[in-house]
Amino acid sequence: MVSRGRKRVFLGFSIIALLVLFMGSLAILYVISKGRPQLLAWGLLIVLGAVFVFLSTGILSLTGALIWNKGIPWGITARAVAAIFPVSLKLAKMFGIEEDVVRRSFLQVHNELTKREKSRLTSQEILVLAPICLQKADCRYKISVEVSNCRRCGRCPVNGLLALQDEYGFHLAVSTGGTRARQLVKELKPKGVVAIACERDLASGIQDTRPLKVLGVTNERPRGPCFETEVNLAEVEEAVRNLLGEQESICLPKGNMLEEGASS
Ligand code: SF4
Repeated sequence: MVSRGRKRVFLGFSIIALLVLFMGSLAILYVISKGRPQLLAWGLLIVLGAVFVFLSTGILSLTGALIWNKGIPWGITARAVAAIFPVSLKLAKMFGIEEDVVRRSFLQVHNELTKREKSRLTSQEILVLAPICLQKADCRYKISVEVSNCRRCGRCPVNGLLALQDEYGFHLAVSTGGTRARQLVKELKPKGVVAIACERDLASGIQDTRPLKVLGVTNERPRGPCFETEVNLAEVEEAVRNLLGEQESICLPKGNMLEEGASS
């Protein structure tokens, strides 16, 4: 799932963001030491220092865990990753790096963290959320209203998702956009979600639904964005099995996790 991209991209920009924060704190300290200490400057320094300690603890423990494949302090790491992601995205833009490259990397890190927090949900507690763009453009069946309206002709991946639903028994819903997806999550109240979408929608959806357990699977867009997209059903199945606790990270190599996806 989210098999493309490298974790090191996100980690690299996160570390740069930490350095920027550290340099900013030093600059404030320098200004304070040169003039009369001002309450506002000291307050700012304390806040920046606290943020720096929090973020660096999370990011450094994440980096160490990915390199040595060890356990992580889940709470602080997940929060630090969520907090630093928007900053990493902005920094990447400044460096002329495509935002989707950073988003893919973030999704890999996020999925890795989510998988490490062991879960054993029932199939009824799992929602597989698919985008409407998986459907054939000329298909007239209203699957966004009720996915069982699909006639299973096999021309699009919805057929395969329904076959997986038959096998595992999870909830399956098709959304027409990000707002509808969030609405479905509110209505169905799942304990775990396998979300299929593009990098941008996955990254924002994951941030918005935190702390819900979400595994992201990026769709493929051979015909351009939002049009008759595809999805790797094996990745969806692996994510479902992971939430069920049936299988532990079958896509993950045993060695250095930072190398995962490096060959892609
Ligand atoms: S499998 Fe066929 S009937 Fe079902 S949504 Fe796709 S195109 Fe429509």
